Amino acid sequence: MFKALVLEQEDRKTLTSIRQIDISDLPEGEVLVKVDYSSLNYKDGLAITGKGKIIRDFPMVPGIDFAGTVVESASDMLTPGASVILTGWGVGENHWGGMAEMARVKASQLVVMPEGLDARKAMAIGTAGITAMLCVMALEDAGVTPEQGEILVTGASGGVGSVSVSLLSKLGYQVAAVSGREQNTELLTALGAKKVLPRSQFSEQGRPMDRQLWAGAIDTVGSQLLANVISQINYGGAVAACGLAGGFDLPTTVMPFILRNVSLLGVDSVMCPQQRRTMAWQRLAELLPEEFYQQATQEVSLEEVPELAEAITKGQVTGRVLIKIS
Ligand code: NDP
Repeated sequence: MFKALVLEQEDRKTLTSIRQIDISDLPEGEVLVKVDYSSLNYKDGLAITGKGKIIRDFPMVPGIDFAGTVVESASDMLTPGASVILTGWGVGENHWGGMAEMARVKASQLVVMPEGLDARKAMAIGTAGITAMLCVMALEDAGVTPEQGEILVTGASGGVGSVSVSLLSKLGYQVAAVSGREQNTELLTALGAKKVLPRSQFSEQGRPMDRQLWAGAIDTVGSQLLANVISQINYGGAVAACGLAGGFDLPTTVMPFILRNVSLLGVDSVMCPQQRRTMAWQRLAELLPEEFYQQATQEVSLEEVPELAEAITKGQVTGRVLIKIS
């Protein structure tokens, strides 16, 4: 038996409970993993509170990411004792996830822990962190370099935002963080932001093409805010868009794309090919400074998750939330 957070649905409401589950009830997969840490991401918040239609089959164990140790493996790729990470692939959405002491998944969904990380650090990074790295890599691939000018990061005090600020700063970019929470200015500056701009500056409907201010941007918010960011990107610049914390619409025009050669780069971490994710994890292990793990993470127990899930959907969580499982 093992402990898990379980979601069920009753009268269209999602109910949470912590329960003992039999190992034989785990879904199919080649690898059984003892989970050490999971983490709380925005999508977990939507799943646990039922605010987003993330889960369709109940009961479900949430947790879109985890790090732990292989206990049993029917795959030649992984042997018992191996330290592994999982993010995405629909785990915690349509396959039981990481908010449990045990998980069973496909071998091809696991990444071997890179040198320099352990389960705790890996989940301080988590899905949000690998998404931030993939956004940085998208900007790099688009030819955005530190010499070209400042990079804007929206939703900066959230998970993806805070890791993005830290990574960009470590790579030598000048970072301008956009945040709706003035109280997080000190943290964002400590993570490497050169300036912190109020979210209100980007919230109202703006001109299709505004003053050119930024060489690139990482956007976790979407909607009007993203439209305003796009309108301020320099000629030839790029925006990596990965999130919808402010809404999934995009009220923009084609003008910045066709007159300023601006690129809008979509970033998804869930189905990201294995080779690129392995590269992203290696770079995260090398780049993230030790201070990141102290400054931008909090550790909670499984019992505290439902309350924090509510908070993350309201944009009230700062940095990353690590969940200690076993
Ligand atoms: P967080 O809640 O940790 O961060 C989101 C941040 O956005 C908040 O901290 C807040 O930052 C800002 N924010 C919240 N609500 C609003 C609002 N209504 N309007 C404007 N800004 C707002 O979430 P994550 O960092 O985990 O995820 C961020 C987004 O990225 C989510 O939409 C998530 O679904 C998406 N995502 C996508 C992935 C992919 O593969 N494409 C993977 C991971 C995440 P502040 O207070 O500083 O303004």
